[in-house]
Formats: sequence, structure tokens, C-alpha cells
Amino acid sequence: MAGNVAQPGVDVKPTPTPTQALFSLVRHGDTNAVKAVAGLNQKDFSINKERLIYNAIKSLQARDVMPDAITIKHELDETGNLSECQHYLADLATTTADPGAIQGYTVCIQEAAAKRRQLVAAQEVVVAIARGNGVEAAAQALHDSMQAAVTNGKSIGSILKKFTKFIDLRQKGLGPQGVKTGIPELDDITNGFQPEHFIVIAARPSVGKTVIGLNIAHYTAMQPTPSGVLIFSLEMPEVELTGRLISAESQVYGGKFGRVGAMTRADWAEVMNAANRLHQAPIFIDDTPALEIDELVARARRMKSEHDIGLIVIDYLQLIRCSSPRGRDRQGEIAEISRSLKTLAKELKIPVIALSQLNRDLEKRADKRPMMSDLRESGAIEQDADIVLFLYREALYCEECKNPLIACTKGHERDAEIIIGKNRGGPLGVVPVEFYGETQQFLPVNNGPAAPVKQNNRCNAIDINSHQGGQNTTPVRPEVAQMAAELGIQVNDNEFNSL
Ligand SMILES: [Zn+2]
Repeated sequence: MAGNVAQPGVDVKPTPTPTQALFSLVRHGDTNAVKAVAGLNQKDFSINKERLIYNAIKSLQARDVMPDAITIKHELDETGNLSECQHYLADLATTTADPGAIQGYTVCIQEAAAKRRQLVAAQEVVVAIARGNGVEAAAQALHDSMQAAVTNGKSIGSILKKFTKFIDLRQKGLGPQGVKTGIPELDDITNGFQPEHFIVIAARPSVGKTVIGLNIAHYTAMQPTPSGVLIFSLEMPEVELTGRLISAESQVYGGKFGRVGAMTRADWAEVMNAANRLHQAPIFIDDTPALEIDELVARARRMKSEHDIGLIVIDYLQLIRCSSPRGRDRQGEIAEISRSLKTLAKELKIPVIALSQLNRDLEKRADKRPMMSDLRESGAIEQDADIVLFLYREALYCEECKNPLIACTKGHERDAEIIIGKNRGGPLGVVPVEFYGETQQFLPVNNGPAAPVKQNNRCNAIDINSHQGGQNTTPVRPEVAQMAAELGIQVNDNEFNSL
């Protein structure tokens, strides 16, 4: 029982190629086959012999001569191509073909030709990428060849076009590179936060979730041609948030804002100039507390349609209320919220950053650096997020740092880590940074302001008066004085002279 498997020793003539089958029918004077060949193009044949035979058939047709075994042979002889095609023609004499399959033969020939063109075009794209130029033109050619294909290559073609265009822009250092954080090492690892990405930044309380959220919002909004940043601040009122932004922008210690007589003339100038710059920055703050997820999504949509919102920051996820909490445990609610935020990012095609609180379980460990398993109890965040970052600051666990009466001998007051716990399509890692509580900033290592002088030996409450302005006064610009007047801020001599 060998079935249809060919037996050794039995003479099996190889199945003819579609071109051989079609040509053999033409050779036998099949008029339908002749018409089918006429509908093909010389480029549809990959072998030179076949192109020569095709040309002979076309040439006979043009002179109203019926192509068959005799006329084709004669035509090839006339053009000096018979010797090259002799064996091929001899094989056609014994080829068996089905006259009912003519359409199938032509489709096969065209499909194979389309595939060859696509391969050539794809190779050209690869070469162009390697050379670093002309990628777009090559991609267009590839796209066109895919569009022209008889097969369903259309969608692949458009995806390839987008992909190659993306690579081309990258090569030129242009195009969407994602939202940057202002921390180059982190941006290198994540390649920036991409559109449609849901990013979770998680930490224990007072490590600096709000700080990094605002840092990224601030950095994005202060770019030369920024897109809008929408901040949902469920915990902190707008005024306080703005104060933090002004502190970071002006580099004036935020603690001075509320202290009578603490602001120097230079501070005022810096603050007012910063306020002026921030006033023009496209930052939108929604500080409605206890917002429901459905309402948050609706507001985000509305803001996106009214303004060019390019980034959403939510401070923080656990404060969002579930719209239909009935019959769900907290874990189920968090899962629904995180799923909605991922969907929102995809719908608006912008990155959505959610800050996230970590529960105290990790405090039981010797190493208190957060890790992915710390998110496990928070419903589906771990699955939904494209990028998960954890913040860690050694100073919060250091007895010396915590003691306001002594200076830390280990010098890790500013030490902070951004731990990349999940990075879809990218590497994981730890980015060391420095924490500046006085101006509410995480900054790249050795990139902070000039070494501040500690006033009271406390790690996290450093008065930067000594290096911030001081005698080195920045003049108050006239428009700033005007704005101060409009805001009803009294800049009196006492404040100016309170050095
Ligand atoms: Zn310490």
C-alpha cells in the first residue's frame, strides 16, 4: 500500500512548471493559451529562455501569425535565439498540460513574478537601511510592489511601509522617539515613552512618585515644540502642584515659598521668570479628588480633542475610583482601572503614565528595593503596563540619613535608583539618579545644581539659599514685575533685602 508515493525505478516525468505547461499548450496551437500568454509581461518570466520564447510568441501575434511548434521555432531561428532555447522546446514536446487549467497557470506565473519583485524591493530596503539613506524611496517601491501583488499582500505592504519609514526617520534622528524623561540613561533604555504605551511608576510613599511624574511632565512641556501634558492630580491640589513646578523651573527651594521673609530678591526674580515660562507651557492640571475611571477617561478624551495632548500623567492610580465597584474586590477594581488606562493610551495614541503606590509588604524584606512581585497583588497592572519603573531611595532606610542631628557618613542622601522592572521590547536595568528634595527633582548623577551647603545636617531638608542667587542677583524683568502686580503679589523692600 504505497498510496500515491512514487516508486523507485518507475519513470516519473517531473511536473511541468506553470510556464512550461502554458508554453506547451501554445506549442500545440491552443488559442486560449495564446491569449493567456498575450496577457502576460516579459518581466513575469524569471528564466531568459522563457523570456525569449515569450517574445517570439508576441512577435508572431503582432504579425497575425498563429504561434505553434513550427512558427515559434522559426521565429527563434530568425532572431538568432534558437540554439539557446532548443532543449527547452524539445522538453515542451513531451510536456503534458491541462487546457482547463490555463487561468491557474497564468495566476501562478504572475504570483511568482510578484514575489520576486517584492524580494528584490525588500533587498533594496535592507541595502538602503545599511547605507543610511534612500530608505523611504526603497520602502515606497516595496510598498508599490506589494500593492500590485495579486495575492493579499496589501496589509503587509502598508505595515512594511510604516516600518521602513520609521527606521528611516530613526536613522536621520527624526520622527517620534517617544516622550523623554530628561534622564538620558533612562531614555536610552526605554527609547522614550512611545504612543499607546501604558507606563507605571511605582514606589512606597514619600520616595518621590509625584516628583518624577512632575519632572517628566515638566520636561515634556518645556521642549522647544512641546505637545500638551495633562496631569490628573487626585491627591495634591493644583496650587501645590504648581508650586512644585515653579520650584523645579526656578531652582528656588520650594520650602521658601510659604515662609515669611525667606524669599530673597533673587529668588523672586527666578520665581517670577519661571512662572512666566510655565505660564506659556502647555500643562493642564485636573485636581478633582476621587475621580471615577470613566470620568477620567471622558475628560482625557475631551482634553485630547481640544488641545494637542501628547502625554497624560496620573497621580496616582490607587486614588482613582472604580465606576462600577459592586461585587468586586479591590484587586478586581484595580484591574479594571489599569485595563481602562491601557485602553486609553491605545485610543488616544499617546503615552499614559500612572504613578502607583506600593503596599508595605516589601518593608519586611532585607533588600527594600521594589520588584515586579510587589505589583502582583495590585491586580492586572503587571500585565497591562508596557513599562514598569520602580523608585528607590536608600536615604529612607538609612538611620544616619533619618537622624536630623547628624550628617550621613555614607553620603547617600541623594542616592536614588530608577529600577526598570518591565520594558516591553527592551532591556531591564537600574538607572542611578540623584534626588533633590529642595527643588523636587530627580536628576542624572552629577548633573544637579552646584554642591549645596547643608544648613542643618539633614539629608532631605537642605536650604539652597547659599548657592541659589544670594548676592548674585538676577534682575527682575519689567514684565515680571507687571505680572507680580497682576497676581497681587507684593514684592516689598523687606523681602528684597532679607538676605
Ligand atoms: Zn544615609
